[in-house]
Amino acid sequence: MHATILHKPGDIRFEDCPDPKILAATDAIVRLSATCVCGSDLWPYRGIQEIKQPTPMGHEYCGIVEEVGKGVTSIRPGQFVIGSFFASDNTCPHCKAGYQSSCRHRELVGGAQAPRLRVPLADGTLVATPEIPPDELVPSLLASSDVFGTGWFAADAAKVKPGATVAVVGDGAVGLLAVLSAKQMGAERIIAMSRHVARQKLARSYGATDIVEERGVDGIARIQDLTKGLGADAVLECVGTQESMAQAIGATRPGGFVSYVGVPHGVSLDAQNLFFRHVHLHGGPAPVRRYLPTLIDLVWSRKVDPGKVFDLTLPLEQVAEGYRAMDERRAIKALLRP
Ligand SMILES: [Zn+2]
Ligand SMILES: [Zn+2]
Repeated sequence: MHATILHKPGDIRFEDCPDPKILAATDAIVRLSATCVCGSDLWPYRGIQEIKQPTPMGHEYCGIVEEVGKGVTSIRPGQFVIGSFFASDNTCPHCKAGYQSSCRHRELVGGAQAPRLRVPLADGTLVATPEIPPDELVPSLLASSDVFGTGWFAADAAKVKPGATVAVVGDGAVGLLAVLSAKQMGAERIIAMSRHVARQKLARSYGATDIVEERGVDGIARIQDLTKGLGADAVLECVGTQESMAQAIGATRPGGFVSYVGVPHGVSLDAQNLFFRHVHLHGGPAPVRRYLPTLIDLVWSRKVDPGKVFDLTLPLEQVAEGYRAMDERRAIKALLRP
């Protein structure tokens, strides 16, 4: 088969690769209905995160199970399944506590920008839909594999409650779906920080009540203004830079919560500032597996449409154009059809 390999920064190729095979008795092979490019794929693409050798890309996936190993008991060939970027057994103490992305046996799932994918720990990792989904649900189910799950974790980790005032830093797919998640959890006021008209519009359709275009100290001042000088109850940091983190901490009320779900790059925190601001911090790689059943239900019953973040759809072989479009911010997120 052909699959997506990053050779060096900016050099994405769709090239001949060996077909995935069952390696462990707990593996499954999934034929992908759709896959996509993630904001986090842009870190190595831009050379900010170093790669040591040509690397298979992609970690967001959904599709039909083709084959399972001898040890797989609950997942069966023919099922439509969704999994997360970390495979997990879903039975160890960390999984039971809801932190499947810290599973004692976790394994990164890589190489999903391909027609077929090997998923380790299939029983613990994959969640099947009630039946084969109609085509129009596939983008939203795919979004649940990462960006919706990550946005949901952002809202959950920041303890968003009914009536809360929430601010979201970042207008990428995760930030937009953090807006949607906060709305689902009953937030009354949702302030989205964005400078892009198309993204502002989508944020509003997902439940944002206010838009703040300013950044840095001006952005913080604007949020303080909008909250009568109190700050937001919950600030969802969905970028991972020093600037976005400082903005999030500065916009939170004393006793409030900051969640951070973008992989931090070059971020350092001032402990004294945190100490005197009384801010809770909670973040990390989202335990998407914990939320998958809830997210699939919401999508299946058509209560939410997280798939709207895909504003570009390409055949898988044009994956390099998907990276370019996202890198140049011409697209929020590129969906790829094998
Ligand atoms: Zn991702
Ligand atoms: Zn586990």
